[in-house]
Amino acid sequence: MPSILPTYAPPDIDFVRGEGPYLMTESGERYLDFGAGIAVASLGHCHPKLVEALKKQADTLWHTSNMFRIRGQKTLADRLVENSFADGVFFTNSGAEAVEAGLKFARRFQWGEGRPERYRMITFEGCFHGRTIATISTTGEEKLIKGFGPLLDAYDQVPFGDLEAVAAAIGHETAGILIEPVQGEGGIRVASPEFLQGLRKICDDLDLVLMFDEVQCGIGRTGKLFAYEWSGITPDIMAIAKGIGGGFPMGACLVNDKIGKYVTLGSHGTTFGGNPMAMAVGNAVLDVVLEDGFLNNINEISQYLHVKLNEVVNKYHNSLLEEVIGKGLMIGLRTKIDNKDVLMKLRDHKLITVAARSNVIRLLPPLIITKEHADEAVAKIDAACAELSGDGQ
Ligand SMILES: *Cc1c(COP(=O)(O)O)cnc(C)c1O
Repeated sequence: MPSILPTYAPPDIDFVRGEGPYLMTESGERYLDFGAGIAVASLGHCHPKLVEALKKQADTLWHTSNMFRIRGQKTLADRLVENSFADGVFFTNSGAEAVEAGLKFARRFQWGEGRPERYRMITFEGCFHGRTIATISTTGEEKLIKGFGPLLDAYDQVPFGDLEAVAAAIGHETAGILIEPVQGEGGIRVASPEFLQGLRKICDDLDLVLMFDEVQCGIGRTGKLFAYEWSGITPDIMAIAKGIGGGFPMGACLVNDKIGKYVTLGSHGTTFGGNPMAMAVGNAVLDVVLEDGFLNNINEISQYLHVKLNEVVNKYHNSLLEEVIGKGLMIGLRTKIDNKDVLMKLRDHKLITVAARSNVIRLLPPLIITKEHADEAVAKIDAACAELSGDGQ
């Protein structure tokens, strides 16, 4: 048996260094990283401000546990509250842990309101919320659940975007609705503002909890700090992770006061969550993302990239590429051939991307990319497609 259990099958490339949107191998080969470690390296690799913040914290204090007050937590929580719908924050180490916290808080709310029989959540086809028992139970995805049963019988899955199906699935045991405003693993599916507004209305009418999973689409990825901002409504609970750590493992569960008032002393906890190192980096990420003009840049560069990608899609529409989808710098290229074949060919051309379901290739570049990086990526996609369609040989 391999000493690393073979849950992943990485290619034979060893990255030893990263700089901005580039990854370098030992021998000095340079890859343009439009995967950003699955939307995690939000400010690119080794961003000077993150490196500085982490080094400074490393020289000062690493860990005390939540048995003691952690200074960076208050700063980061205040800033997340100030810049979102939320009134309170619980810090975690990962996305799944942030989602789990939210799922617990949704139940706790219904319990606190005197409706303990409400424990089920409506979830959506194509969703991905993590790999814990509770979070895999939210999906029907064979790959995630096979051999891990019995799962939690607490989730009712309906088609993404189907408001009538949501309404029909609600019963007297329903506690709330859990949705990614933009599905990541499921194939970069963007929920329409109308759909999210419809969910909000259902939740308001029936005293249900609306919970968003912005682990992938949050922290500037779609061109606003949080993807829900495009919809004009707010959730009650929101999980974030990936981008907020910029490569340092961390997450958070944000809640409004309606939910937060039931998250009381001793009701939930974590050993590592919110540790000083994570807080230092999270605050540094927000320093950059909240700078004047940063989100605007994301919108400009992503519009440019969408236009350029559409040109490439038109060029190879006959045989290779179906469409460009997504929001901001959370972009999907739907392919007509096996997406893995395209992904590998792009990698041969030294462009890193991420596969998703529904034959989609995800482009999740660091949020700091410039037009030059966008052009470089598009040129690589063009060259890879030319080779795949035969006229490059
Ligand atoms: C990645 C992801 C998760 C799980 O995060 P982990 O840090 O891997 O536990 C949950 N939800 C969404 C939408 C994700 O993209």
